[in-house]
Amino acid sequence: MLTDYHVHLRQDEIAETPASRLFTAGNAERYREAAADRGIAELGVSEHVYRFTQALDVWDHEFWRQCALDDLDEYCGFVREETDLKLGIEADFVPGREDRMANLLEARDWDYVVGSVHFLRDRSLDTEDYSIWGSGESPERIWRRYFDTIAESALSGLYDVIGHPDLVKVWGDKAPRPDKDLRYFYEPAVEAFAEAGVAVELSTAGLRKPVGELYPARPYLEMILDAGCPIALSSDAHKPEQLGFRYEQALELLDELGVKELAVFERRQRRMEPIG
Ligand SMILES: [Zn+2]
Ligand SMILES: [Zn+2]
Repeated sequence: MLTDYHVHLRQDEIAETPASRLFTAGNAERYREAAADRGIAELGVSEHVYRFTQALDVWDHEFWRQCALDDLDEYCGFVREETDLKLGIEADFVPGREDRMANLLEARDWDYVVGSVHFLRDRSLDTEDYSIWGSGESPERIWRRYFDTIAESALSGLYDVIGHPDLVKVWGDKAPRPDKDLRYFYEPAVEAFAEAGVAVELSTAGLRKPVGELYPARPYLEMILDAGCPIALSSDAHKPEQLGFRYEQALELLDELGVKELAVFERRQRRMEPIG
């Protein structure tokens, strides 16, 4: 069974189409049809938590204030009542705000929660605004902080899936990279995933980004598998045509590495299903 769980109905541009036109049965149906064309039976949505006004109780970074346009309970109600999609959310890990994020998450009935690290303190890893790159910090330090934060996010217990677990590489050659063997950075994260028992996302989104690689990189994925972590497969699509984006490449790699099952979620319970 193929899954696509890390899926957005909204695109990344802040002020584009209002939710009233995206959170509709018709729009969900476009996603469902595109997924069916690609053989993806398990489809869920995981809108960015910072799209919702309720997220400002967790963190009030200027970027979040600009993005917080929609109501979280309307989104949940829409997915549950007007679609047959799994209900997820992509919830940033904000160190020090774990209790607030836990309150937001526990008040709603998710099928799964994807944890992401897009910011290190108030600097962004993957957007040009608020960028951490060029802030004067060494790439070694940025990478170490990123993987330490990802480790902390797994151990927080807030998440079912750790999303794009090496997002720090997103810019490829356009940002400085550490000289070291990258496994040095991966290690604390992998240890934390195993200890926390979380699933780790294999995401094809990196193939659409300057880095042009799957998240996680192959040596990192090998470490994750050696540690016994389950894999959740997603495209991080922001439009229907991105569903299952370049899954052939992800499936080939999983096959090469002997992975036969994917993680499937329902009401925050995980089970493993054969790939196909
Ligand atoms: Zn993300
Ligand atoms: Zn996403």
